Amino acid sequence: MSPPTPNVEPVLVGRDNLVWMIPTIPGCYVAIDPGEAGPVVDFLTAQNATLSHILITHHHGDHIGGVEPLRARYGCAVIGAEADAHRLPSLDLTVREGDRVALNRQLMADVLEVPGHTLGHLAYRIGDGIFCGDTLFGFGCGRLFEGTPAQMWSSLSKLRALPDDTRLFAGHEYTLVNLDFTRSLDPDNRELARLRHHFMTILDDGGFTLPHPLQLEKAFNPFLNADNPVFLAHLGLTGLDPVTAFATLRERRNHF
Ligand SMILES: [Zn+2]
Repeated sequence: MSPPTPNVEPVLVGRDNLVWMIPTIPGCYVAIDPGEAGPVVDFLTAQNATLSHILITHHHGDHIGGVEPLRARYGCAVIGAEADAHRLPSLDLTVREGDRVALNRQLMADVLEVPGHTLGHLAYRIGDGIFCGDTLFGFGCGRLFEGTPAQMWSSLSKLRALPDDTRLFAGHEYTLVNLDFTRSLDPDNRELARLRHHFMTILDDGGFTLPHPLQLEKAFNPFLNADNPVFLAHLGLTGLDPVTAFATLRERRNHF
């Protein structure tokens, strides 16, 4: 098992973007997907800390908007997908599936390619966390802006194969609305009602629903269960192949 990644903190940008701040050495952080610079600078200033690296999952503006001003201020290294280098801020290091980047002496970021939301989308496995941008959300998944259902299903299957105790760090706080969609598929599920109450309480207290263990997603996220015959039977989708079932669920979610 990978060692836990301690003290990762979210910085909220805009309405629901989560910039994950990972401490590396004392006084130094790595930022995942800084969509804006201001809130990240405020966070670092309050910690009297600096920024060593920025890791980018994909090219959307709400994930990269803060990259250039942060680089100008901190001189940090910017890392992103080789395949999308032409449409990302200039990269100090381009990475692809299977690459491993050292963030400090102990902490490594392992690169996974997870196309679907965008074609060059990456996820980073760091310690016991998976930082997956807009691929997998709490009880949901990203929209298919560029990829096919087959690509997204394959990417989600790759994330699902990670250990149960992997902690999910997604790019948005979308858990509650996704849980409402999940409950619409399974209205009598008391565990889903309990989870909604649990997460609602956390949000009401000003907290975030992430990270939480991937085990929870494997059990309840409808998009990770597109090959689960019991789940499909419950939805009247018996006999559909996983990609078609996934596409059907994603279409329902688009209109939810
Ligand atoms: Zn996006």
